[in-house]
Amino acid sequence: MPRAQAIVERLDALLRTAEIPDYPAALNGLQFANRGDVHRVATAVDFSSHTVRAAVAARAQMLLVHHGMFWTGLQPVTGPVYERYGLLVTHDMAVYSAHLPLDMHPELGNNALLARRLGLEPSAGFARYKTIDVGLSGCADMATESLVARARQFARDAGGEVVVTPFDAARRTRQWAICTGAGADSDTIREAADRGIDTLVVGEGPHHTAVQARDLGIVVVYAGHYATETLGIRALGDWVAREFGVEAQFLEAPTGL
Ligand SMILES: [Zn+2]
Repeated sequence: MPRAQAIVERLDALLRTAEIPDYPAALNGLQFANRGDVHRVATAVDFSSHTVRAAVAARAQMLLVHHGMFWTGLQPVTGPVYERYGLLVTHDMAVYSAHLPLDMHPELGNNALLARRLGLEPSAGFARYKTIDVGLSGCADMATESLVARARQFARDAGGEVVVTPFDAARRTRQWAICTGAGADSDTIREAADRGIDTLVVGEGPHHTAVQARDLGIVVVYAGHYATETLGIRALGDWVAREFGVEAQFLEAPTGL
């Protein structure tokens, strides 16, 4: 059975964690070490008391997450934070986090897998962040209503719901873009307009993005932050299972967002 470090080295290479820029709190890579072998990995969208307890119940020695241990910024190791750290030490569980490197991965990434799930063929990137494109874009010729129906089915399968800005029944989608998670903000709406995108699929976004998008003739499909980011981490767990002959289990923990 592999040690956590062997898995970490392969994941760092696969995801190019050293090269891909990210927000400081993402701290991609190994976030918490362990001592023993890894027989089973658990995967979750978010690191939380809930998912740590679920990983313990699943008898995992490694927890892979998309939003890691430091997502909420500096905090003292007291209360629930202390309890979570205690569980990791007691159960000898490592934590590995992959944020933007996972969002943008061409095969295992949230954006690539969501495009595939929606039947969309990407031809370019989208959502520029420093040196990378986090999201994807492409051409289509389909009724916007049928794209929304696919997104709605996808979101429901993950325990969520779709919110979509108003559009005419006859409207067609010809230039689409995807940015999972918190994908709608003033920058991505502006980028979409500049690039002639008519339909933008995201996880979530603030209210003003719907107003801004409508003024620019863009339909925004908010398919759920949680739902759109279940895909990559699940695929990453399956990849580790295949490569290392360990078991992988996805821990469902919908946030309602
Ligand atoms: Zn996210």
